[in-house]
Amino acid sequence: MDFQLNDEQRLFRDTLRDFVDKEIVPVARDWEQSGRYPTEIVEGMKQLGLFGLAVPEEFGGLAADTVSFALTFEEISRGWMGIAGILGSHSVSCFMLARHGTEDQKARYLPDLATGKRRTGIALTEPGAGTDLQGIRTAARKEGDEYVINGTKMWITNARYADPLPVLVKTDPTASPAHKGMSILLVEAGTPGFEVTQDIGKLGYKGTESCEVVLTDVRVPASQLLGGIEGRGMQQALSSLETGRINIAARSVGIAQRAYDEALNYARERTAFGQAIGEFQAVQMRLAEIAVRLQAARLMTYWAASRMDDGVRMDTESGMAKIFASEQALACATDAMRIHGGYGYSTEFEVERLYRDAPLMSIGEGTNDVLRGVVAKALLAGKATIR
Ligand SMILES: Cc1cc2nc3c(=O)[nH]c(=O)nc-3n(C[C@H](O)[C@H](O)[C@H](O)COP(=O)(O)OP(=O)(O)OC[C@H]3O[C@@H](n4cnc5c(N)ncnc54)[C@H](O)[C@@H]3O)c2cc1C
Repeated sequence: MDFQLNDEQRLFRDTLRDFVDKEIVPVARDWEQSGRYPTEIVEGMKQLGLFGLAVPEEFGGLAADTVSFALTFEEISRGWMGIAGILGSHSVSCFMLARHGTEDQKARYLPDLATGKRRTGIALTEPGAGTDLQGIRTAARKEGDEYVINGTKMWITNARYADPLPVLVKTDPTASPAHKGMSILLVEAGTPGFEVTQDIGKLGYKGTESCEVVLTDVRVPASQLLGGIEGRGMQQALSSLETGRINIAARSVGIAQRAYDEALNYARERTAFGQAIGEFQAVQMRLAEIAVRLQAARLMTYWAASRMDDGVRMDTESGMAKIFASEQALACATDAMRIHGGYGYSTEFEVERLYRDAPLMSIGEGTNDVLRGVVAKALLAGKATIR
């Protein structure tokens, strides 16, 4: 196992760090609290080519290796995790289109998705089904050369900007097992009957919208069926979540890094009883604990990412990294808050945002509890070896 970044990755990380320090860190607190959409940051990410992270070079993308992909989400989340959401579901969707799209679908969408001219997301979850995706109710019936979609999707990140939005549907609601009747349809913005009905209020993860989407008799041409063959939607969605888990693990590392940075500064600057609070052993214990958790999460995330670059199927490894790193982000944010005392509870300090953003990492791309089950089953079946 070799965890050294190569020169190219180091240079890429330095460019990202510079961008985050100049364009995100100075505005994150104000913009997050005011609910302002981070338009200028989106433009900056376009300039850096970040919307093309998961797009193959032949379509104008960066086709970044998975470690560089992780570095992107880590650095951006160090600045403001909500921004990573804008790029996260976009990248998952690009990855899915590049891997499973027909030649026509790839040629039509990927070049514009790579530049950010078009943006996208992914619509799987429904009011009554999140983990249990086979329980979705959104259905698409075939009428001539069209599909007619009806249903409601919930928590859809980037819903107001996605064009197209891949939507998981049942093309055969009677299929058994249910996943054999599930497909993904690419719905373009502005299609009649497609409506973003609300922005869901949330604890953190601000800067990007999470929406309820209602589809009422939405008609799309049959050519919008991802991959052109019905019944593959569940597998197409699940395979793209593999990178999604690396993305969440890396975001967790970014949150933990910021918690560490803020806690270290504060421990040096804040005085009590005539000395810096960092002189107190109790504060030192917490600081050391944050550093240990952060570095372990980072190594595990890079390890899982580098396994993917070796061409190995790595859902177990990415699941392990996502579980571990997200738990560390939560613990580090809480400890950094404690080190800040009362100011940790103030909206004037960065740590309260970290504390609100961290919990989502244990929910998104599979809850940690569900993933623990997935990892354990893979281990018991001998599909992954730990030694
Ligand atoms: C801010 C935000 C943004 C999101 N963005 C998107 C998006 O862009 N696109 C999208 O499609 N979805 C999105 N989601 C949805 C997210 O993926 C789901 O919330 C998540 O998959 C969990 O589903 P659920 O909320 O329905 O919880 P449920 O599946 O109802 O789970 C509830 C509880 O039951 C447990 N549980 C469920 N099944 C099992 C099981 N088999 N074994 C053990 N425990 C189980 C879970 O661990 C959890 O504790 C977003 C969610 C949030 C909060």
